[in-house]
Amino acid sequence: MTRHADLELVALTKRYGGTVAVDAIAHRFKAGVYACLLGPSGCGKSSTLRMIAGHETVSDGSIVLAGRDVSHLPPARRGTAMMFQNYALFPHLSVRDNVSFSLRMAGIEKPTRDKRADEMLELVEMTALTDRKPDQLSGGQQQRVALARALITRPQVLLLDEPLSALDPFLRIRMRAELKRLQRELGISFIHVTHGQDEALALADEIIVMNDARIEQAGPARDVFNRPKTAFVARFMGGHNVLNLPQGNIALRTDEMTVTAAQAGRIDGRVIGIEYQGTHVALTAEVAGGQDVTALMLDTDFLQTPKDLGEVIGLDWEDRVAHPLSA
Ligand code: ADP
Repeated sequence: MTRHADLELVALTKRYGGTVAVDAIAHRFKAGVYACLLGPSGCGKSSTLRMIAGHETVSDGSIVLAGRDVSHLPPARRGTAMMFQNYALFPHLSVRDNVSFSLRMAGIEKPTRDKRADEMLELVEMTALTDRKPDQLSGGQQQRVALARALITRPQVLLLDEPLSALDPFLRIRMRAELKRLQRELGISFIHVTHGQDEALALADEIIVMNDARIEQAGPARDVFNRPKTAFVARFMGGHNVLNLPQGNIALRTDEMTVTAAQAGRIDGRVIGIEYQGTHVALTAEVAGGQDVTALMLDTDFLQTPKDLGEVIGLDWEDRVAHPLSA
């Protein structure tokens, strides 16, 4: 079995009674991609991932891995592996036995199991702690064990459901670098579910934005951020203003806005928020129609021409940065 394989979702649908959780989505994940399924809570990300893993039945459509329809195969026979949000480690088993568990189920002998487990533990840099029990590990270490346990089955696709959400912010940033390193080293596809746009931007080659059971936009991370197709994507990715002008909806990156004196820009607004962010100051103004517009200014620029709450300012931008949105 080749380890490098495309995964294709064909009109994949999930219904729970009358609720359509995933509505006929279609997508091809290229072999070896780091993909993030991104969207707000309830948009259908986990249902999609669980269907791919085989932990949830498919209502309609199919899942094709390396040209083979795996939609109705049991999880262990699909060529996928899943890492759960809470890691789901067995508390009474050692780190090594947790990692080799699926090999034990497959009837593989102990010396072989231990050898493979130790290789995996080396990959996740946990060699020193193989004999510990899960409750003797930190959150980050437990996560490494869960990763090793998923990878020991040599999946073509690793599925990760909110893998970083149980970690504190500091560790989250370290572990996401670790995930990226592992994915590069192994060369297999990772499909990672998250509701954090910063996490998706930091990790993903490809971002699939979901909204209300459908794929709203999919593409390279930079494209999705810089060229959002809809107001939903622009707002969800952050860093953009969505402005409704007489000529239509546009997205404007907050760092591409220029603050001018009143009536010297394209529109005027009244300052309603000044937020210091260290290197930058986020200045928010209310413009015509009650819309909020944020300009992200360099801290030093703000200090040269400071603004006060309630002050009327002008806001300007170049034509090239105005990005048209559909609906
Ligand atoms: P996300 O992962 O994006 O938060 P989910 O896939 O968990 O979204 O859920 C999508 C929709 O399906 C939501 O409306 C949710 O309430 C519903 N849902 C998820 N799991 C079940 C279930 N086991 N039974 C009934 N409804 C469910």
